[in-house]
Amino acid sequence: MKTPICRFCGNTLQRTFANLGMSPPSNAFLSAVELGQLERFYPLHAYVCESCLLVQLEEFETPAEIFTDYAYFSSFSSSWLEHSEHFATRIVKRLGLDEKSLVIEIASNDGYLLQYFKKQGIRTLGIEPAVNVARAAQERGITTITEFFGSQVATALVDDGEQPDLICANNVLAHVPNINDFVSGIKILLKTNGTATFEFPHLLKLIEFNQFDTIYHEHFSYFSLLTAVNIFRFHDLEVVDVDELPTHGGSLRLFVRHSGQATPSENVARILANEREANLEHVETYSMFSGQVEASKRTLLKFLIDAKNAGKRIAAYGAAAKATTLLNYCGIRTDFIDYIVDRNPYKQNRYLPGCHIPILDPAAIARSEPDYILILPWNLKEEITKQLAYVERWGARFVVPIPRVEVL
Ligand SMILES: [Zn+2]
Repeated sequence: MKTPICRFCGNTLQRTFANLGMSPPSNAFLSAVELGQLERFYPLHAYVCESCLLVQLEEFETPAEIFTDYAYFSSFSSSWLEHSEHFATRIVKRLGLDEKSLVIEIASNDGYLLQYFKKQGIRTLGIEPAVNVARAAQERGITTITEFFGSQVATALVDDGEQPDLICANNVLAHVPNINDFVSGIKILLKTNGTATFEFPHLLKLIEFNQFDTIYHEHFSYFSLLTAVNIFRFHDLEVVDVDELPTHGGSLRLFVRHSGQATPSENVARILANEREANLEHVETYSMFSGQVEASKRTLLKFLIDAKNAGKRIAAYGAAAKATTLLNYCGIRTDFIDYIVDRNPYKQNRYLPGCHIPILDPAAIARSEPDYILILPWNLKEEITKQLAYVERWGARFVVPIPRVEVL
């Protein structure tokens, strides 16, 4: 195997952040027929670059393979929709956007975010490579280009006279294989006094709260603010403000402008200071994470073994990408978990990649009355426990696996 190379600075990658073994692509759900066929597994090995400290995976699949028939429709999560509406309302005020403004979203999914700008009479344009979700956006009246964003697409839009006042690239930066081409596209496309926003899970929280299950193949890079600032600066862009968000277990929202347009806020300095205090400038900090991950696997397996030995029946909620990582890494199959329920009809009556645990409609829970319900998307645990409040009827308990196994 050839030595992997840092996708930002080109340095060779030798230092392990977390090695989760072989794992299938997290959204490669299987039909019953496919259970008997050869399945693709790739190394799920995160490295930290010793030169620029970007935590990253090697790229094994082309983005086209991963994203063109993407199973994730943003609009299936009600708390995510609330988060998006709140964001749109606030940023329209903050930037003083009106009918003359243009908002472009990169990875616009099914139009879950742009719909809220459109409601306020603002012109919108979505860019989304997954054909099936882009179609859903078009159906709700959100003009959408089906392309992977980069410098080429940016240049073409500028040539057509389309320069946005706001670019939203929320939850896409981590999924971009060629980060330099992507950020240079932002530099080309953004209006001189425009703003671009980026959201990504905060590496500081991933380490602090042991969120190793958020490492999966589609998620190429894991950013601290330190590395993000360096990457934007390299492309003559500046992080002028940053918010800390509760989404995905702790994310950052960056406000980025052309260099020299504004002075960075105190928030930027404060979060950079937090990261320095957590030793994120030192490569040894990243190496220590591996041991923590292995200990978590032993603790989760111990809980499940004890529960099964006591004759308990266990179901799980949420066939999210993190479920594929966690269950494959720990080797958990139907020997521990009878089934997983998920509200997304695309996933129902299919099987979790690798582990082959069946995915059912949430109604299965009331029918089979399990003793434990393992909440796999722990970031949505409040929403899920509320939805499933009825399980109290037969005394079922909720269990959250991350940051450590906890029976609620
Ligand atoms: Zn690097």
